[in-house]
Amino acid sequence: MKTLILASHNLGKLEEFRAIAGDYPVRFLGLVDIGFDQDIDETGSSFDENALIKAMAVHRKASEIVVADDTGLCVDALNGAPGLYSARYAGEGKSGVDRMERLLKELDSAESPDRSAAFHCSLAVVYPDGRQELYHGLCRGSITRTPRGDNGFGYDPVFVPDGERRTFAEMSGEEKHAISHRGLAVRAFLDAFIDEEGGPPGSDQ
Ligand code: IMP
Repeated sequence: MKTLILASHNLGKLEEFRAIAGDYPVRFLGLVDIGFDQDIDETGSSFDENALIKAMAVHRKASEIVVADDTGLCVDALNGAPGLYSARYAGEGKSGVDRMERLLKELDSAESPDRSAAFHCSLAVVYPDGRQELYHGLCRGSITRTPRGDNGFGYDPVFVPDGERRTFAEMSGEEKHAISHRGLAVRAFLDAFIDEEGGPPGSDQ
């Protein structure tokens, strides 16, 4: 069993990583488990840069493999917004509900009736020796007119993945992870990681 650290204060994300890792011989610890309580400024100009910034900030304080994801919801009719600013879309200190409300308002007043969107997930992995890797996951779908469902987190109640009628928040975790941006990126990493004879030398915890 390998121990991996998820560089995120978001407990919804940690829960998803643990569920996606399911039967893989790995366990994810969150920042609270290692006593890391600093905020990490996401100052990058891309999802990849932000994921690496988060993973590197924790790598400097930890001896285990560190994983971080940076995710954004990109809406076509809003020229890719909220995108990189998904976490701050309604301003600092606002709630997930405020962000969804702003998104629905912007889309209702957009010139185009197109409601297509995609979640982009960049996953950065930093090994104890400083080696870095990036994995990606993309999930296309559309934005609803009103929020629906209580599961998941963030923008899940307003996002219906292609080929579905339910929002992510109306699906079980298992259903979401099977097709989600994060499920795709995390499985791509874990498949490659486990393929390397159960992980690179020196990663046993
Ligand atoms: P970050 O990757 O933690 O910076 O998240 C950016 C924003 O996207 C936050 O507002 C999250 O709540 C939201 N978000 C991240 N992943 C998901 C997801 O899987 N579903 C819905 N919203 C998400």
